[in-house]
Amino acid sequence: MTFEYAPAPESRAIVSIKPKYGHFINGSFVAGKKHFPTINPATEEILSHISLGGLSDVDKAVAAAQKAYTKTWSKLSGKERGKYLYRIARILQERAREFAVLETLDNGKPIRETRDIDIPLVAAHFFYHAGWADKLDYAGLGHSPQPYGVAGQIIPWNFPLLMLAWKVAPALATGNTVVLKPAETTSLTALLFAEVCQQAELPDGVVNIVTGDGSTGAAIVNHPGIHKIAFTGSTDVGKKIARAIASTDKKATLELGGKGANVVFDDAPIDEAVEGIVNGIFFNQGHVCCAGSRLILQESIADEVIEKLKVRMSKIRVGDPLDKNTDLGAINSKEQLVKIKELSAIGDAEGAERWSPQCNLSDKGFWFAPTIFTGVTQAHRIAQEEIFGPVLSILTFRTPQEAMDKANNTPFGLSAGIWSEKGSRIFWASQHLKAGVIWANTFNKFDPASPFGGYKESGWGREGGKHGLAAYLKTGKETGAK
Ligand code: ADP
Repeated sequence: MTFEYAPAPESRAIVSIKPKYGHFINGSFVAGKKHFPTINPATEEILSHISLGGLSDVDKAVAAAQKAYTKTWSKLSGKERGKYLYRIARILQERAREFAVLETLDNGKPIRETRDIDIPLVAAHFFYHAGWADKLDYAGLGHSPQPYGVAGQIIPWNFPLLMLAWKVAPALATGNTVVLKPAETTSLTALLFAEVCQQAELPDGVVNIVTGDGSTGAAIVNHPGIHKIAFTGSTDVGKKIARAIASTDKKATLELGGKGANVVFDDAPIDEAVEGIVNGIFFNQGHVCCAGSRLILQESIADEVIEKLKVRMSKIRVGDPLDKNTDLGAINSKEQLVKIKELSAIGDAEGAERWSPQCNLSDKGFWFAPTIFTGVTQAHRIAQEEIFGPVLSILTFRTPQEAMDKANNTPFGLSAGIWSEKGSRIFWASQHLKAGVIWANTFNKFDPASPFGGYKESGWGREGGKHGLAAYLKTGKETGAK
């Protein structure tokens, strides 16, 4: 017997979206010149119009950030900076429902995730870094580590407010000021965060938000007043940024793509592993750089796991992201949907076998059913390239060494998962997997205290934890200390 779920839509009355937005510079909203629409990817409804920042907007934002750095922020004690961060964290908690609904409208991700994962983690990042602000001398980073000055921060559309928190919280805690650019399809929660900065009475110019596209991002990267770049996005753009700053003394952290291996050994608890596989690839529509997008299954249990996975996938509810029962929401943009469709068609053409449960997908908006490919080999493009959608490539192995070889055989190295009941096997595998983040018997778990970042083409540096603080501080000789 199956139960039908009655619709349980979250009300959108709590958010008020302006028809048009400017940039947030020096503590105020300033009008932009050109605008582009931002839409709800679940319905294609135009939500608002966002300013396309140009060189002069970036110039003004950097000037405001420089002034705030020299006149105010660098003069405050860590304890005072911490007070602002605590205040921001508390306001974010108070306004959590508003942020969750707005993020769901603008991004297409389910309200269940924005409400229970994104926004609570955003507040947690501000609380965590607030606690560090007056303890930097004791962070093991040497005597009196110093901020760089103005940080240029460029973020993607998959976790819009969470990526903002990953960038802004450590920058402010360490005494840097910020010019941040949200992704073109998801600027609305960053602009609401600007209101939170005003509400917290954060000194003018400490946080500046310039909206726009890649050209706006490039203007931030190339601006001579920026001393540190923090970027999360595609490996292609990350490479462009690395090239652009190669002959400068700008510091950078780059958090790029991934093709995470989720390795399931024959002694794994199968039902838990199936949940972990689903969470690894279908969380956030698979728009996750550390997604477990390659399932590497021990051959002896492959049939059983795939069968159970199909049963579980048939229960995934795809649809209205504002419905509290929805598991899988909309694909963030038309362009991303085209990319997912293209790579999936390549999977078919290369001979892998595609399977999706029966789903009723709406004609309006951008949708893709949860999908698995079996019979995938290492040479297939769907085993090598990041699809960034709800599509899982399944490979098999016979020996533990073969599993490690297959897991490491991509240009990326961001995340991996190990499913096994044996602690010794988990330790052995974690030492052999070339990935910055390794989960054991779980997947896609995040914590502000835990450093996150990648090997190889997945990026440079770490965000979160003490390692993340270090990326915003000059230490040792860099500070001019003898
Ligand atoms: P995604 O695959 O997530 O769309 P992108 O790397 O294209 O990843 O975008 C991530 C962020 O980088 C966005 O905010 C985008 O506007 C910005 N961006 C795109 N091109 C450039 C560039 N050449 N320099 C700096 N930022 C860029």
